[in-house]
Parts: sequence; structure tokens; C-alpha cells
Amino acid sequence: MRKLFVSHGYNHVNQYKKNEIIQLLEKHSCTSRCPQNISVFQCISESNTKPTISAPFPPRSLEPDLVHKIISDWTDEFHSTKIVEIGCAVCGQLKLCTNMTTLKSLKNHLHVLEKTGVTRKQRKSASDPITEIEGPVIDHSCAHVCEPCRKSLRNGQVPRISLANGLWIGNVPPELQCLNFTERLLIQKVRTNCCFVKVSSGMRKMISHVIAFETPVAKVYE
Ligand SMILES: [Zn+2]
Ligand SMILES: [Zn+2]
Repeated sequence: MRKLFVSHGYNHVNQYKKNEIIQLLEKHSCTSRCPQNISVFQCISESNTKPTISAPFPPRSLEPDLVHKIISDWTDEFHSTKIVEIGCAVCGQLKLCTNMTTLKSLKNHLHVLEKTGVTRKQRKSASDPITEIEGPVIDHSCAHVCEPCRKSLRNGQVPRISLANGLWIGNVPPELQCLNFTERLLIQKVRTNCCFVKVSSGMRKMISHVIAFETPVAKVYE
């Protein structure tokens, strides 16, 4: 019907709903530019359009072999070795255990991660000197490296998302590890805002810049 609508000189067919197209076609009187043939529409009731199913009802129960195969495939797919996540020493992200390489095997490539001005040793008093942690900037509690980090290291590059690229924050003290959402809002130094709109296809689109406001942390403490 939309093709017919266009052939009779209407544009922007997608702007119209089905009912509007029917109304416009009914009102339409043909000109010399319209096609000369006549279209005939036939009403098909909905019950006729359903495909007929020839399979017996109710269907036969599954063969034991097939049941066994489905269950064993599922347990294979969800075996603990395939879904366990461990931390990457270079980027600090949790990644699937199956895609990890050991840190030991990359020992000779870690020199690119030696950076100054990224880490800071914990100080117990104000008079303690400010020092950095020696050696490559990695999470020493992790013994594995993820695939993207491994690739970059093998090429002699610092991975973009890595602790050595300015993302190092050190060990989070236990007091800060168990905060709830409101407490986290109180200690955050920066609050970020961004605006999204829902577009007609159901996806989302960011419509403006991400704005970061500094939280007046000192005032919160007072
Ligand atoms: Zn026409
Ligand atoms: Zn990584």
C-alpha cells in the first residue's frame, strides 16, 4: 500500500500512519502523472493468515539422550572455570579467567609501566617524606594480565586504560570499601552530569557535554 501511495505522487511515506494513508488514498483523485492501472484490495481475515501446524499435539516428550545432551551442554557452558572473573594487574579490571595470561610470562615487558608521579606511598604522619612505590605501576595483589593489556605490552606500549596511565589509586582502605550509596555521594570530590534523550528507534543519545561539578568536600566535613 505504501508503494501505491508513493506512485500516486505522495512523498515522505514514513510520516503517515496506516489509517492516514487509507484516508488520503480515498480522497485522492488521479492526475495525468498517476499510473494508469487499477489496484484492487482484498480483505483477508486474521485467522486465514496463521500458518497451519501439522505436528501432533501435544508434542512427544524428549528422548533421554537429548535431555542428557542439553543438560551436559549447559553445565559445560556454565562450568566455574568459564565464568570466574579475576583482576588484571595492569588495568585493575575484572576479566574472564579464560582470557588471562600470567603476569610472570610478561615479566620482560613490564618496564614500560614504570612511571613517575603516578603512585604514592602511604604516610603515617605529616612529617613523613612523600615517596613513590618503586617498580612498574601494577596491582601487586593480581597475578594475571588481560588480553588487551597483554597485546599493548607486547608492542611495547602502555595500555590506554591502565593503572600506569594515571588511573592508579592504590589500596582502598577498609573504611571506604563498605560505603553505601549516600556515603559515597558525600565523599566524592567531583559530581558528573550528562543529558540523554531517547530517540525513536529506542536507543539513547547523549545531547550535551558531560559536566563535572566540584563537590565542596571541606564544607561537608564541617
Ligand atoms: Zn493518483
Ligand atoms: Zn588489563
